[in-house]
Amino acid sequence: LLRLDGVTVRFGERAALDAVDLEVAEHETVCVLGPSGSGKSTLLRVVAGLQRADAGRVLLSGNDQEGVPTHRREVGLMFQDHQLFPQRDVGGNVAFGLRVRKVGRAETERRVAELLELVGLPGAGRRAVAALSGGEQQRVALARALAPRPRLLMLDEPLGQLDRGLRERLVVELRELFGRLGTTVLAVTHDQGEAFALADRVVVMRDGRIAQAGTPLEVWQRPASEFVARFLGFDN
Ligand code: ATP
Ligand code: MG
Repeated sequence: LLRLDGVTVRFGERAALDAVDLEVAEHETVCVLGPSGSGKSTLLRVVAGLQRADAGRVLLSGNDQEGVPTHRREVGLMFQDHQLFPQRDVGGNVAFGLRVRKVGRAETERRVAELLELVGLPGAGRRAVAALSGGEQQRVALARALAPRPRLLMLDEPLGQLDRGLRERLVVELRELFGRLGTTVLAVTHDQGEAFALADRVVVMRDGRIAQAGTPLEVWQRPASEFVARFLGFDN
């Protein structure tokens, strides 16, 4: 579904992405791990068309995305800072991408209710987003990203602000949901447990390059380098 061929993004002298090759198959969930500043968010942004590549190609369903604007790419994106629309209530935020796609009213209401239930905010549709805690806002942003059921869903630290119990429950339910809808997922996370529970494959980044990619078991049992081993915490 997604292919990156030698994608490079430079900010001045530094390459945030350095000739990255990556393929994500249909229905696959790939989690991106790596230290702060290693290029994880840049990778998602370049696929979404929010960041231009200085070299290389991004292909979605085999089509080169050069010049294709973000709203025409078949991707959904949840940012790290999950900006909600402050003038809309919770339900209006979750429903946002559905109006644009002309999803009918009954189906919209059904999906909004189902997703608010999923993220642990049942019946919160009329609440003002300004009155929500950071973690609650993050959950609304997650529901908003899921609602349009994009073929490729990209999540940047989707559960970062949530407590352990909620994260663990959501990881299980998200995995079930992605399976049921056939969603392909590319997700950035700092939490290894989350990556290993959610992912069919994990990608470990270092300085704009892929240090290792493989199934969670492969990466966990056979880190490809000392960097990966240390990043996974095997030196402690
Ligand atoms: P984190 O875990 O902290 O979110 P990350 O892996 O998502 O980190 P990126 O945001 O992709 O990292 O950034 C990769 C590198 O590119 C960093 O060195 C960052 O400072 C730089 N960078 C990212 N966006 C810009 C920008 N708009 N202008 C200049 N430099 C940028
Ligand atoms: Mg980031």
